[in-house]
Amino acid sequence: MISTLAHRALERDGLGPIRDKVLAGDRLTDADALQLFEAPDLAALGALANHVREARHGNLAFYNRNVHLNPTNVCVATCKFCSFARKDDQQASDGYTMSLDEAVEKVVSKRPLGITEVHIVAGLHPTLPWDYYTGLLSRIHQAWPELAIKAFTAIEYHYWAGKFGMTYTEVLSELRDAGLTTIPGGGAEIFAPRVRRKICDDKATADQWIEIHRTAHRLGIRSNATMLYGHIERLDERVDHMRRLRDLQDETHGFQVFIPLAFHPEHNMIGKAFPKPTGHDALRTAAVARLYLDNFDHMKAYWVSMGERLAQVALAFGVDDLDGTVLEERIYHMAGSTVPQALSERSLHDLIRAAGRVPAERNSLYDVLQVHEQPLPPAAPPPPRLTVVSA
Ligand code: SF4
Repeated sequence: MISTLAHRALERDGLGPIRDKVLAGDRLTDADALQLFEAPDLAALGALANHVREARHGNLAFYNRNVHLNPTNVCVATCKFCSFARKDDQQASDGYTMSLDEAVEKVVSKRPLGITEVHIVAGLHPTLPWDYYTGLLSRIHQAWPELAIKAFTAIEYHYWAGKFGMTYTEVLSELRDAGLTTIPGGGAEIFAPRVRRKICDDKATADQWIEIHRTAHRLGIRSNATMLYGHIERLDERVDHMRRLRDLQDETHGFQVFIPLAFHPEHNMIGKAFPKPTGHDALRTAAVARLYLDNFDHMKAYWVSMGERLAQVALAFGVDDLDGTVLEERIYHMAGSTVPQALSERSLHDLIRAAGRVPAERNSLYDVLQVHEQPLPPAAPPPPRLTVVSA
């Protein structure tokens, strides 16, 4: 149900026909989405997106317990928005490449924390061999078989296909056999050629990104989808981006979640020209995405990108998922993110409950592991400190 006030505001702003389509469960057009991006009343737009969100997920807000691993930041590409990549792995340039032992140990050491997913992405390293990547996944999988491995962007898969002379199917199949569970949505940026030419002209194209995900879905590997917004793209290019995702989802039904990612301006080539997107833009983008992407089950506010407080508010603007505990995040923090390095499960619960939602832990495939109707029991007090009394 949307409130009378929101109904009136949508009517007043000429959005009555779009509201009626949403309430009837009809699909929105690109023109509708563009009109929503320009809607004057953010609260009314949010109420409409919230209606769809609650029809799908009720009062639940999802999260998972996850750890990130970025085994190398050495990258041959030169994306203008990237603050993470380095040209070599010299310490002087902050470049690094983990040995397999180091990378596997970083993940496996988190086992006592009850993590259910590792999220792995890296730069396009010019010299690492193919068996580094298969070895990484198979060693993590052997050491910790229950851990879901969400690994590598379409950009990496495309690069390896060219470098190692393999088809997309071969690359994905070998990594699936090594332990891959799902694919993250990174590297999509904005699909429009005008934008890609300016911000990331030396990595996989939009068509190649789409084809990698299509291939993954055909192989039974589910994946996520992102959109990096708030830089040089126009609103119609955001809509075009989402339309291409919606089209592929109609075809394969392999996407699990859509994740709008806010551009972060520090330590990259275009940051000075573009400030961080406003909170208003972040909430509007989440709401429009929820309304337009009618074949996506989940909408995520990645709290590291959005900030945990705004992500909490987004739970009333169409969002049903906050990502997770996110131990060891590097990419956004290297771009100037000032959010905490990780959130405890208790902090995630607190954010969700304060927004009037019920925390629901999910796994990497969005199966619900536990709905926390009741607050977590109080944390055990720290052990008493020993006082040494000298005789
Ligand atoms: S965004 Fe990815 S592909 Fe582009 S420069 Fe950064 S690490 Fe490399």
